[in-house]
Amino acid sequence: MTDYRAPVSDMRFVLENISELPKIAALPGYEDATPDLVEAVLEEAGKLAANLLAPLNQKGDEVGSVLENGVVRTPNGFAEAYRQYVEGGWNAVPFDPEFGGQGLPWAVGVAAQEMWNAANMSFALCPLLTQGAVELLQAHGSQEQKDTYLAKLISGSWTGTMNLTEPQAGTDVGAVRTRAVKEGDHWRISGQKIFITWGEHDVAENIVHMVLARTPDAPEGTRGLSLFLVPKFLPDSEGRPGKRNDLRCVSLEHKLGIKASPTCVMSFGDNEGAVGFLIGEELRGMEYMFTMMNNARLSVGVQGVAIADRAYQQALAYARQRIQGREFGSREGQLVPIIRHPDVRRMLMTMRALTEAARTLAYYTAAALDHSKANPDPAERERQTRDVLELLIPVTKAWCTDVGCEVASLGIQVHGGMGFIEETGAAQHYRDARITPIYEGTNGVQALDLISRKIMRHKGEPALRLLEQMRLTVSRLEELEGESFAAMRQGLREATDAFEEATNWLIENYQARPLEAAAGATPYLRLTGLLTGGWLLAKGAIAAAEKREQPGADAPFLDGKIATARFYADSILPEAVAAATATRRGSASALALEELAA
Ligand SMILES: Cc1cc2nc3c(=O)[nH]c(=O)nc-3n(C[C@H](O)[C@H](O)[C@H](O)COP(=O)(O)OP(=O)(O)OC[C@H]3O[C@@H](n4cnc5c(N)ncnc54)[C@H](O)[C@@H]3O)c2cc1C
Repeated sequence: MTDYRAPVSDMRFVLENISELPKIAALPGYEDATPDLVEAVLEEAGKLAANLLAPLNQKGDEVGSVLENGVVRTPNGFAEAYRQYVEGGWNAVPFDPEFGGQGLPWAVGVAAQEMWNAANMSFALCPLLTQGAVELLQAHGSQEQKDTYLAKLISGSWTGTMNLTEPQAGTDVGAVRTRAVKEGDHWRISGQKIFITWGEHDVAENIVHMVLARTPDAPEGTRGLSLFLVPKFLPDSEGRPGKRNDLRCVSLEHKLGIKASPTCVMSFGDNEGAVGFLIGEELRGMEYMFTMMNNARLSVGVQGVAIADRAYQQALAYARQRIQGREFGSREGQLVPIIRHPDVRRMLMTMRALTEAARTLAYYTAAALDHSKANPDPAERERQTRDVLELLIPVTKAWCTDVGCEVASLGIQVHGGMGFIEETGAAQHYRDARITPIYEGTNGVQALDLISRKIMRHKGEPALRLLEQMRLTVSRLEELEGESFAAMRQGLREATDAFEEATNWLIENYQARPLEAAAGATPYLRLTGLLTGGWLLAKGAIAAAEKREQPGADAPFLDGKIATARFYADSILPEAVAAATATRRGSASALALEELAA
């Protein structure tokens, strides 16, 4: 497997020009995010990812985590790496300084997350879940719960989990059957949860489970769910891990990928019932879960970016050293590395362009998250929340993870037969990537969320306002000379027109033909992702052209940004137009066959 090198230059460029980091650093609470500090964070995070986490990735995949006598053992090196990660303060980057967090913007935190996930996705999942637990507690925990658990979770010395899924309750979370019965100042939890990521492990001294359960006489469905904090070890009077709680990992799943990440079947309350503490109010569990979903879905989208970047780096290195055949059209002369073949160049360029586009989308959405939390102007906070964050979260989650799979698949193709052989490591990226469109709400569910809550609830207005922004960029492109900018202008103009048509089609048909609209949701989300990625790449290309004129400019890097945005406009944006057609025309035919004949 090729070494990992964090793409710090591109991250810095996207943070500055797409996330507009200087504007975020001007928000109250984010003053520390100076260019020097952000640079230091990116450099040091990159080193940790490359030197500590990446070398464990392939071995972790080979041996996986195992369950022995009720104890989950992670692969050699994981516990020590986690200790160093916590000691370095890396878990605390985007969290509240009041509880030991570093208070940096999410946009910066997301860049660091990308590095952990690219280096070792199995490892990075543990902090990703802890992050969810932190957000739940921050938003809804009592003062006592915050005082007991937050600092531990923020530092990472204790880890967190999310316990929603049960055998009969996957997408349909309302079918949860785990029960909670009140006993004095706490509750007794009993039931089985499946697929719990890092539900049990040996890398930290305590695990704090966030468990959705049903209280006696609660109504059916999601309205009847409450949220409980259920620690593996109950904290003693000093706040240290004390008595073992009545919960255990019954088995580990054998999976396609992320094998080092323990995916646990958890049993709560085999004996007297696990002690749990209600978070917030009874029956509001699902509402609380939604407060952390924006961040969790953004983080999973970032996993897609990360795995795409890792696969690209590996494919590029291989294409430079694998010798095969001669230059196209020549029968004589030197044998050449495969990177000289136009089709291989096309694959690499596709991988690069999709990865960079997905990165712009994820970091742009992360910037909106920062504004939604910290912007002092209520109108701007509202605009960033509704027009950017809420609209683009499902797109970031689903499109970036689809990109992760697509790019990792291309990575295998670049390797030829060796891509299919495990020792090269290309196959691991593909296998690891494959979970990301499934968990944290499947991509199909994201698409339905996009059209129903984010488009229809607001009569399409946020999408049409996004379109206005894109058209401003098209106008700006008209002022720039050269074939590259002309290509971007044309690609964006066609794709924005197609987006407008598809959005209007949805608005007109959603009520009258809901099944067809629902069947068109996934192509519509793909259209939105392809277009937004192309738009943000073009914005980056405009910024690159401006910087190119400045003294000391990094010309090869900036030219690369322009060339990549142009390739995307020429070769990938046309797919957005096709996706718009599929949204309008394909949805009825998706339902044409009777169920049993499908
Ligand atoms: C490795 C791994 C780690 C996980 N980690 C966690 C975790 O830490 N905590 C946790 O609680 N869960 C976790 N999960 C569970 C995960 O979130 C679920 O698997 C996922 O939400 C899908 O649920 P399901 O598997 O029951 O699929 P199903 O709900 O059965 O869905 C099957 C298919 O039908 C589609 N579908 C279902 N319902 C609808 C609908 N109403 N409309 C349109 N399409 C629909 C889905 O999109 C999907 O394509 C994990 C799963 C895996 C595999």
